[in-house]
Amino acid sequence: MASVRSSPAMMRPLPGAAAAAIIAGAFAALYLLERRRPLRRRTDDDTSRTATNLVAAAASAVAIRALEKPVVTPLARMVATRRLGLLQKLGLPPWAELTAGVVLLDYTLYLWHVLTHKMPMLWRFHVAHHADLDLDASTALRFHFAEMILSIPWRAAQVVVVGAGPRTLSIWQTSTLVAILFHHSNLELPAPVERWLCRLVTTPRMHGIHHSVVPEETDSNWSTIFSFPDYLHATIRLNVPQEEITIGVPSHRRPLRITTFLALPFRERPARSMTPPRRLAALGPAASLADAMPPADRVAHWRDVVS
Ligand SMILES: [Zn+2]
Repeated sequence: MASVRSSPAMMRPLPGAAAAAIIAGAFAALYLLERRRPLRRRTDDDTSRTATNLVAAAASAVAIRALEKPVVTPLARMVATRRLGLLQKLGLPPWAELTAGVVLLDYTLYLWHVLTHKMPMLWRFHVAHHADLDLDASTALRFHFAEMILSIPWRAAQVVVVGAGPRTLSIWQTSTLVAILFHHSNLELPAPVERWLCRLVTTPRMHGIHHSVVPEETDSNWSTIFSFPDYLHATIRLNVPQEEITIGVPSHRRPLRITTFLALPFRERPARSMTPPRRLAALGPAASLADAMPPADRVAHWRDVVS
């Protein structure tokens, strides 16, 4: 069993044109919808920050195409041909291999996301993404190209350890992009819909909390497609009303245009935390972060916070 090749369907990646059409369609739909039903009020000039985000996205796309794809694509083919990694050893039917592959790749991306916040060397690059003063579909594409390059060894390890063949890898990559466009979007979903949806997938209100300037809120809701990793590791936080959130990082409170954005990781070391201004001020001078956000209330419901 272990030496049998993967089924031909699992060897074929999703066609590039289909993946591109799905991603472009999702971006266009969310870009229009979030302007019709905005969740949070904007603070920065829409045109210039969208331009910064799209140029950053283009640089990242070039880095992925030139450096990640030549490593990861042949690796996925080799994993399926030689039956390497967890899923290839299990000999599951194609549908089960695909489902388990997407779930495991999503879970291991959660771990990478935590590392980008916890390791100062990686935070230096990930902070460029978090320094956006607003959050919408264009933020989903705003990653420093060097962060993409630094993630290549992790991505390669994900493919080999999980045993993700070409089809699983391509479907996970496309789903991940659609998911990050969705959860970064500034789209106000009806509260009952989001209350139900966040049990399964990462939603805009959930990820809005991750982009808060308050460190304890940033250190929550790290998941990408499915929300289960946050429930599993008790890093879920649902009790922060969106109108109370200041989007961004305390160390960079001015809009970053593209040259500053690109130079950011190579300049001063970004501070991980700073006293969050608004909420603590409201609590009084003796208040601590713990007063502002009691951990026991972390999984309190949207019902209590969504108006
Ligand atoms: Zn993050």
